[in-house]
Amino acid sequence: MGVKAREIVGKDADRIVKLLNGALADEWLAYYQYWVGSLVVRGPMRPDVQKELKEHADDEFKHANMLADRIVKLGGTPLLNPSDWLKHSKYGYDEPKDAHVLKILRQNIEGEQCAIEAYSNILKVAMDAKDFSTFNMVRKILDDEIGHEQDLQDLENDIKLIGK
Ligand code: FE
Ligand code: FE
Ligand code: MG
Repeated sequence: MGVKAREIVGKDADRIVKLLNGALADEWLAYYQYWVGSLVVRGPMRPDVQKELKEHADDEFKHANMLADRIVKLGGTPLLNPSDWLKHSKYGYDEPKDAHVLKILRQNIEGEQCAIEAYSNILKVAMDAKDFSTFNMVRKILDDEIGHEQDLQDLENDIKLIGK
């Protein structure tokens, strides 16, 4: 961070880095949950569900990149070891043991709801810290998570309508 940027955000930078590292852990776990879910999922509308899960996996990967980039710009270090992901994650990992489409969709909808809550909180912290660069990035990620929840809910509703 340059001199002026540090002058404004400086005292809160460590706190924000910590929050962003927590989010980074959640993004990697979300990436893997979607990725492996897209491979094992079975049941009605499988191709549509697979396509959506894969798209979301790609989005979560992009979010991980955005967060890591911002952490570095704030003078922090992104989590260096995958073993830290579960330790720093706020919401953990939901293993898709039951691969039925409705089970996998539900698990990921709940994950998205957690993400929406977490990013809404980080937005408030970034706003209070006058860290508008972090604010803008998190706002973009939050928009994606809101879209993810919607897409999965639409699929869940459509699958429940089959045969009705
Ligand atoms: Fe994400
Ligand atoms: Fe998401
Ligand atoms: Mg989508």
